[in-house]
Amino acid sequence: DNLQVAIDGPAGAGKSTIAKGIAKRLGLFYVDTGAMYRAITHKALSLNIPLDQESAIVDMAWQSDITLDHTEARRVYCDGQDITEALRTPEVSRNVSVIAAYAGVRERLVDLQRREALRGAVVMDGRDIGTYVLPEANLKIFLTATSEERAKRRWLELQKAGKMVSFEEVHQDMQIRDQTDQQREVSPLVPAADAIMLDTTGLGVEEIIERIISLINN
Ligand code: C5P
Repeated sequence: DNLQVAIDGPAGAGKSTIAKGIAKRLGLFYVDTGAMYRAITHKALSLNIPLDQESAIVDMAWQSDITLDHTEARRVYCDGQDITEALRTPEVSRNVSVIAAYAGVRERLVDLQRREALRGAVVMDGRDIGTYVLPEANLKIFLTATSEERAKRRWLELQKAGKMVSFEEVHQDMQIRDQTDQQREVSPLVPAADAIMLDTTGLGVEEIIERIISLINN
């Protein structure tokens, strides 16, 4: 059977960096599920669909085609259009957890995510991969770090990208998003019962990747 590695955790815990590193080392497909929720949020914002109109958003999600490019460029396409650069704006980040709480949106995106996992061995990152999307995953990791460290990582990323935002704003937005993700009714952000908890505070990327690869091999 295909190897499945599930990586979950709150915002800024290092999930995507770690997942990409593992994908590269082991030759797995990397599936960024957060990018899918971001793509639907971006589309709703650009079509001016009010975010509280759940049924309109759910219908739109079912009519949307999201594809991930599995080359190192890792582009994200929505309805054939490359929207990669639009996915990490503060506006999308602030609104994504509202849309991710809609059961119909999740059904649609989980369907797409499971289809990706049928293509071959995968490492998938998100919030509900170990608990819901890939319950039979060979390895489930739940990454954590203190909220200051997570906000600092995200803030440094934004700075590097030339985005002028204060650390406080990033920290606050992140806390609100994590709370919404933890408190929603459908697939809330919680570790799977069989997940291995990994606190990444103060650890380097390579160190974490090595730890996880040795867990895969054991
Ligand atoms: O991982 P990323 O920060 O890109 O995720 C953006 C948002 O998408 C999360 O805060 C969460 O609201 C939602 N999400 C989710 N389930 C996933 C992945 C992301 O609800 N599997």
